[in-house]
Amino acid sequence: MILPKLRELKEAIGSLFSKPVTSKYPNTKTPYEPVKEFRGKPKYDEDECVGCGTCAQVCPAEAIEMIDDKENNTRTLRINYSHCIYCGQCEEHCITEKGIKLSTEYITAVFDSNKDSDFMENEKELLICQNCGEIIAAKDHLDWIIERLGTKAYGNTNLVARMQQQNYELPESKVKDKLRREDYYKLLCAKCRHEVVVKDAFNEIS
Ligand code: SF4
Ligand code: SF4
Repeated sequence: MILPKLRELKEAIGSLFSKPVTSKYPNTKTPYEPVKEFRGKPKYDEDECVGCGTCAQVCPAEAIEMIDDKENNTRTLRINYSHCIYCGQCEEHCITEKGIKLSTEYITAVFDSNKDSDFMENEKELLICQNCGEIIAAKDHLDWIIERLGTKAYGNTNLVARMQQQNYELPESKVKDKLRREDYYKLLCAKCRHEVVVKDAFNEIS
């Protein structure tokens, strides 16, 4: 009966002078080096991301939030790493193929998840309808489409209006008291453009 107790006591005293069998986290002395293909924290590339929001839509864990602020014309894409499951869907479906990439960064531990939430934000400027103030798209998104379409972009009135803004630095013109035929080439949301086109076709606007 006494022998096991003595053995335990010997081990307890011995452990006071021996090295711990556990290692510190994160291990700063010999940090783990992930392989190239490692699926770690997704990171935005602010120059390559155009703010389309596809990554937020395809994220199965709802780890990416898309926050549109109509007052300040901004769209913020925020990755909450405590929700991310590192599936890689955001990278896979990114329309530019370079806007978001899974990095090899793997440390996501925080002391207090309420205070120290671990996230990354990416802010984009929005284009809003010159009639009703609804969101059309992120500026970078339209510019990306214009670049891809080349001369075919002249087939879309919003893209033409955006090109005019970019190339001639035209001051922003507002719709007067109501939508008129002259507003056809303004930046309009789908609903307002529909109103101009349909009402124009039925002679309801002058
Ligand atoms: S890796 Fe998966 S879970 Fe994480 S942000 Fe991307 S889509 Fe969402
Ligand atoms: S461009 Fe890519 S990273 Fe940026 S919002 Fe669209 S899908 Fe997400």
